[in-house]
Parts: sequence; C-alpha cells; structure tokens
Amino acid sequence: MKIESTPSDWISSPCDALVLSVDENWKGREDLLRLNEATGDWLFPILQRGEVSTKPNRVTLLHAPAAKSPSTLVALVGTGARGKAPLDIPFRAAASAIRAVMTKNRSTVRVVGLAGSPLEERAVVAGAVSACTGQDLFRSEKSIFAPDTLQFAGFHSRQVEIGQIVGQSIQLVKRLVNLPPNYMYPETFVDEAMSVSQEAGISIEVWDLEQLKAQRCGALLGVARGSVRPPRLLVMKYAGTDTAMAPIALVGKGVTFDSGGYSIKPTDGMLTMKADMAGAATVLGIMRAAALLKVKRPIIGVMGLVENLISGDAFKLGDVLTARSGKTIEIHNTDAEGRLVLADCLNVALDYSPEKIVDFATLTGACVVALGNDVVGLMSNDLSWQSEIQSAANSCGEYTWPLPMFPFFSEQIAGKVADIKNVGDGRWGGAITAAKFLEEFVGSTPWTHLDIAGPAFADSSKPWADAGGTGYMVRSMIELLLK
Ligand SMILES: [Zn+2]
Repeated sequence: MKIESTPSDWISSPCDALVLSVDENWKGREDLLRLNEATGDWLFPILQRGEVSTKPNRVTLLHAPAAKSPSTLVALVGTGARGKAPLDIPFRAAASAIRAVMTKNRSTVRVVGLAGSPLEERAVVAGAVSACTGQDLFRSEKSIFAPDTLQFAGFHSRQVEIGQIVGQSIQLVKRLVNLPPNYMYPETFVDEAMSVSQEAGISIEVWDLEQLKAQRCGALLGVARGSVRPPRLLVMKYAGTDTAMAPIALVGKGVTFDSGGYSIKPTDGMLTMKADMAGAATVLGIMRAAALLKVKRPIIGVMGLVENLISGDAFKLGDVLTARSGKTIEIHNTDAEGRLVLADCLNVALDYSPEKIVDFATLTGACVVALGNDVVGLMSNDLSWQSEIQSAANSCGEYTWPLPMFPFFSEQIAGKVADIKNVGDGRWGGAITAAKFLEEFVGSTPWTHLDIAGPAFADSSKPWADAGGTGYMVRSMIELLLK
C-alpha cells in the first residue's frame, strides 16, 4: 500500500473513493462547500434533508454524479459537535471511514480534511493505515481490501510519515496478537523481532533456555516449564539520536498462550489467551516506530516470552521460585504467571540503568472488572512519570486511568514460606496487588505499570476496527517519545 500526501487541490483529479468528515456545523465547512459547488449543488440538499449522520464514527456512503465529482463514491464520516468531540475522533473517524470503503478492492482512496493540528493529522493517518488489517489472517475469502494508494490531501508530509510509521506499527502489533498460538510462540515471536530489528536498525539480544538458566531467571523459567516450547527473553536496544540521554526501558509480558497452568482457566476464559503476549507485541511495535522516527531518547526493550501450559514438569501451587533479583516467591496461583515473567524482565531492565521504566501487560481480569474493557489501568511508584504517560494518552484519545498504590496493599503479598507470594488475599483489588508484586522488582527507579488486559484485545468489531488485537498505547507512547 502506497501512502502519500497530495496537494490541497483534491477536487480536480479522479480517485476511487473520497473520504470527508461531516460535523454538526457542516454548513460552514469549506471542503464540503467545494464538493457541493463542483457537483452542481448535489451534496448540500442531501445534508439538508438529514440523510447523513453527523454522529461520531458513523459513516454514510453516497454515490456522486460521475462526471462532476473526483469520485463517484463519497464516504462521509460523522465527527459530532466541533469542540465537544472526544479526543479519539481523528483516529477513529478516519479508521471508520476507511473500513467502510474497504469492502471491495479500490485503487486510490483519498482522505480530505478530518484534521486541524499536526497531532490530528498524524492521528488520522495512523487510524486510516491501522484500519487496513483485520483478524482474517487465515481466511481464504478476505473481508478487508486495503487500497493500493491512500492519499491525504493537504496534509503535511512529515505528519503523513509519522502517521504511516505509527499506523504500520499498530498493524504489526495487531497481527502478532491475532496470530493463533500454534503459529505464535516464543521462537516465532523472536523471528518477528529479528525482522523488526533489521528493518528499523535496532540491536537485539536473544536469551535462550541456557542463557536464561545462566542468568538465574528462575521466575520466568518456572512458568515456562510446562511447555515443550522453550522460553526466550529479548533485549532490544535503540541507541537514540541523543546518546547523552538516559534510556527509557519498555518491558512487555509475552505469554504466547496462557492456559492458567494447574490453576486452569475455564474454556471461555482460555479461548482468547493467545492475546496474553500483547504486552511484548506492544513493546516491539513502539520500538519499531520510535527507531524509524529516530526519536531522541535511547530505548531498552525487554520482552519475556513463554507459554503457560500443564505437564508433568509444570510448576505447581506451593512451589517456591527464586527470581533473578534473589527474591523468593511462593506460588499460590499458577494463573498469576505474567507477574512472574515480568519480575525477571524488570530486573533485567535495571541492568541498563534506565531513567524510567514502563511495562505493558495483559495482567489481570481484576483491572477489567475495575475499569472496563476500554481503559488501561495505570499503577506507579512515581506519580509524575504516571501523569506524563496519562497526558500523552489523553492527547491522542487513548483511555487510561490510575489505580491507587497505597503501601498497605503490599501486606497482602507477604509470603509465609518465601519472601512474597504471587497473589493477594482474595480477589479484591487484584489489579493493584499484582502491581505491588511488580513493584518489588523495580528498586527505586521511576516505574509505571500499564495493565492492558481490557483494551489490548477486542472481542467484537467496532466501526473503526476489526475484532482482535488493537495495538493500544503505541500511539500514546510515540507521542510521549516525540516530545
Ligand atoms: Zn494467567
């Protein structure tokens, strides 16, 4: 797919689909006026009759007079009330419109307007590009047809470039999450990371089973024991263009399939557990985009890759594991495995003396109970680092919300046989006790934990995205890194 910014004269050259937005104040819109004039007052009477919804992300397809419009197919996407629309509008409206016109093969699709600021321009491009993939990876009859050329009329070329790189990185995350678990396991994730490292010029270090043993990653290895697929740990390094800056560490949970282990999940809960590696995929997507965009800040990416299965050798309830940091952990639930994987990954990240750490993990169902499917839970030992992430997310319309990290939550993870145990007492506050467990492994480094268990994977499709992996938080982190 070719992506280009075209001159602002979008009205005279032909294309196969034209995308415009329509809000409640459509009468004052210059682009709609131009199309109306070019088509001999075809558009406004339709709008006047209320045939076109201005509701956010609602798409109306119209067929314009062939000789007069640049395209016979005009997609109008609603953006609501100007000034009152939620911040997610540019990304979602663009994606919704593109999805509506991608039901068949079209050569050139042209997007007009939809954006004002540079931030909005790149959000529109990222939204349109990210919408071009779905979960039908193995279907012989595809339902989504990406156009050959996607044009953004009147957009600044740098914003198109940023939006394209971010949109493609979101596509990467979606694809990795959508790949079934018999295709996506620690070794194949490494293959994907290798090609990203080559494409984007990021150095990569792969820790295999021997190396993990040599490094005493006992918490991660405990989880991996039940699977015939050997675990891996990845350390990726992007040097940054300002090497004087201390690195940020991105840490990702990559459980490529989570059966729950002996604390086995019921079928309903297990079905989508291929998505339990979304944190690692998110880290890979952010690193790809950051490196291709040449952000200033050096970045260390640490991804822990395991399958959590059951076998005669799998870890058991009551086992005590020794993490790389030396801390001993009593296993009270083998389905609380993500925090064990992250315990060693966070400890590895500390080797690189990062200024700040952020981790991404589909960690707890409790976070989804607390915040719903569409909001990322933020938990931190450093409120200014947390709010830096939250304001970056706010600026691009990704939804995050903090949960409290009061010290008394730690009492719940005190161990009897070992230093700590891997779950709290009962279910209440389970997202927070999980974060308190992670906090044990970050020392005094500012750290924020992002529980993406809800937003990383969508059970059903939305106007702006197919069901499956979402690539959530890639945009927010790139906004933060571009600052
Ligand atoms: Zn689990």
